[in-house]
Amino acid sequence: MTDHDADGLPGDPTTAPFWRAAREHRLVLQRCRTCGAHQFYPRPFCLSCFGLDLDWAEASGRATVYSKTTVRIPVIAEMPPPYVVAVVTLDEGPRLTTNLVGSEAAIGERVSVTWRERAGLPPLPVFQRLAGADGDGDTDEQSASQTGAG
Ligand SMILES: [Zn+2]
Repeated sequence: MTDHDADGLPGDPTTAPFWRAAREHRLVLQRCRTCGAHQFYPRPFCLSCFGLDLDWAEASGRATVYSKTTVRIPVIAEMPPPYVVAVVTLDEGPRLTTNLVGSEAAIGERVSVTWRERAGLPPLPVFQRLAGADGDGDTDEQSASQTGAG
């Protein structure tokens, strides 16, 4: 069940469309054709009305930081500490557990999706501070590319 298909995607038909879109750096959510609710993570039925008629919709990629914490001990080799684990509320409604990258966003701050590439696996959606959210293009950049060369 944890096998990967020929494209290296997780072999779970419920989540496969999410990973296929992630490959193209598109964040997609399930949307219920019956009641219109969005949900994440993918499930075989709608959490709002228990309907089975689910579709996929591209998310705006915009979110608000709901909660966060900084991990300071090594957990997996792929991610040397410190790094920020966060729960963000997507503009479409669902919450997503993710990482914050770049200059650290505060709880309540607006963020937008970006992607962390992984060797042999689809990229993961992570979030960064939303620059120029007011449209004035005024970014208070401390160090624009501080993401540590990999
Ligand atoms: Zn529904």
